[in-house]
Amino acid sequence: MKTPVWHPYAHLKNQTPAPKVVGGDGAHFVLESGERLLDATCSWWCMIHGYGHPRLVAAIREQAGELCHVMLGGLTHEPADRLARELVRITPAGLNHVFYSDSGSVGMEVAMKMALQYQVLTGHPGKQKMLSLMKAYHGDTTGCMAVCDPEEGMHSLFASLLPKHHFAPAPTAPFDATAEQVEHDLHALRDALERHHDEIAALLMEPLLQAAGGLNMTSPDYVTGARELCDEFGVLLIFDEVATGFGRTGKLFAADHAGITPDIMVLSKGLTGGYLGHAATLATDRVHDAFIGDTPQHAFMHGPTFMGNPLACRVALESLRVFEEEDYLGKIATLSQQLQRELLEDQALNAHPPVADVRVLGATAVIEAHSAEALKGVGVFARERGVWLRPIGRWLYTMPAYITSETEISQITDVMKAWFLRPQ
Ligand SMILES: *Cc1c(COP(=O)(O)O)cnc(C)c1O
Repeated sequence: MKTPVWHPYAHLKNQTPAPKVVGGDGAHFVLESGERLLDATCSWWCMIHGYGHPRLVAAIREQAGELCHVMLGGLTHEPADRLARELVRITPAGLNHVFYSDSGSVGMEVAMKMALQYQVLTGHPGKQKMLSLMKAYHGDTTGCMAVCDPEEGMHSLFASLLPKHHFAPAPTAPFDATAEQVEHDLHALRDALERHHDEIAALLMEPLLQAAGGLNMTSPDYVTGARELCDEFGVLLIFDEVATGFGRTGKLFAADHAGITPDIMVLSKGLTGGYLGHAATLATDRVHDAFIGDTPQHAFMHGPTFMGNPLACRVALESLRVFEEEDYLGKIATLSQQLQRELLEDQALNAHPPVADVRVLGATAVIEAHSAEALKGVGVFARERGVWLRPIGRWLYTMPAYITSETEISQITDVMKAWFLRPQ
């Protein structure tokens, strides 16, 4: 029987039936047929502890016995308070205020509204637009689509629905770039700010790793330079750490590589270890305190029904505890070295004509092909070998769960290499 479920990003005409997942443990999920697949993507990068983690499951069970949900309008509860304190503790110094929402996209909507209202409240009502980067991806809601790459960002169909923002070129300097390479990128950013700063409320970026837009990696110096430019031009800096947060780039947050604090930072995906949908938009005192005042304009008019959901907050707290107690940053460092050894340093792979580039940063590795055509069929190929891979465009990547074992990582990298180097 055909399912009424409408799948995301799918061409309905030629989609094959989606395999039914019935459970999972560790880095694997299990299909109805009994087939076990090693998840190289940890379910769109959020299941950082893998599936069926006993401590996370227990945390949800316990919380469910106490309180499943209550509105955050005018009320609070222990998990929301505690998680906010923990997020303030672990994020870059100065991010002292936490606004909850239910997904990464909404977290970004909140960030943009906050930035714009901040500018109005501090006497800059002309600053009504965002400055984003090419190759950016910030979510699929209308406000977010408007700050995704307008050409390759999957949303060009909706161009006339969307507000027009400004865009600077995507950074080209790699993670270990020279000062000169970074200078080139910062020059382009300065150029955009010089021309439009009067109307720009905030610069937003996925620091170090533009994820869904093609796993474009850049230098911490670019991020530091962006911070300085924002201060120079009276523009807020928003970090979308929905994908990069919670260890993905090798530090807890991508901002930590540069040692800087954005004015606003958005977290989601890994926040709950992937066990429930939730997001947090953090702000500095400077941003927050601008909202203290007497006029109706001073209230922040946003409030998702499920913001601060107790189950989500409770499992996020447990996720953080596991992350710290079990030295996940150490696990990520080891995993990263293995990805470098097995992909970055593989001569045959790098020399293979269809391969344009191989990149590794933290627990992220990507093989960039010259065309999406070169990846046609890779999902089936991987599944036959026990691995779940789902490329984005011409990028074949892995963002494994941090508990993925050495043998399992090799299984993933072997399949990625075998796809390219297979006899045709
Ligand atoms: C996934 C993602 C989003 C959107 O998050 P959703 O929870 O899917 O709405 C926003 N920004 C980045 C960088 C992401 O990777």
